[in-house]
Amino acid sequence: MPYELPELPYDYAALEPHYQAENLEIHHSKHHAAYVAGANTTLERLGDARAAGDFGGLVGLEKTLAFNVSGHVLHSMFWKNLSPDGGGKPEGELAAAIDEHFGSFDVFKAQLSQASVLVQGSGWGVLAYEPLGGRLVVEQVYDHHANLVHGAVPLLVFDVWEHAYYLQYRNARPAFVDALWNVVNWPDVAGRLARTRR
Ligand code: MN
Repeated sequence: MPYELPELPYDYAALEPHYQAENLEIHHSKHHAAYVAGANTTLERLGDARAAGDFGGLVGLEKTLAFNVSGHVLHSMFWKNLSPDGGGKPEGELAAAIDEHFGSFDVFKAQLSQASVLVQGSGWGVLAYEPLGGRLVVEQVYDHHANLVHGAVPLLVFDVWEHAYYLQYRNARPAFVDALWNVVNWPDVAGRLARTRR
């Protein structure tokens, strides 16, 4: 089955004023859609290469696969990480884990904000669960697929590609990151941690 662009779990205007409808619609219907198309095209080309027994272009195809599938995975998570009913602070096990591994919610918030703001070029700030050590980590992901901690499962992702915010926030990436905290869907993040730990 080919990859498909998922519907947003809310209307394009639902996250306003924190996320402008026009910016969100282009982000989802154009940018995310392009990663879905790119992932499917790359899978087809890999199939063609296998059928032909010709792996001459394999290095480029593997890189393109990682870029597009990771873009699809991260955007699919990003939409669910946000909610018109979001914001505030996490509760329960997620709150306890954040306190344990970062010291406090405010310190965690500062680290993830800075990891996001300070991405050089295009990328993501990510909260992830690293299963070998059983710890939460913040990752600074470049593009969609570089600078990852292997095996760590992303729980909360902040898209800081310029396409994510430039229409609404122009060059003010820090203002976009600040706004995202107002719409974080903490029950979604907590559910991801609980399922990953199990
Ligand atoms: Mn994006």
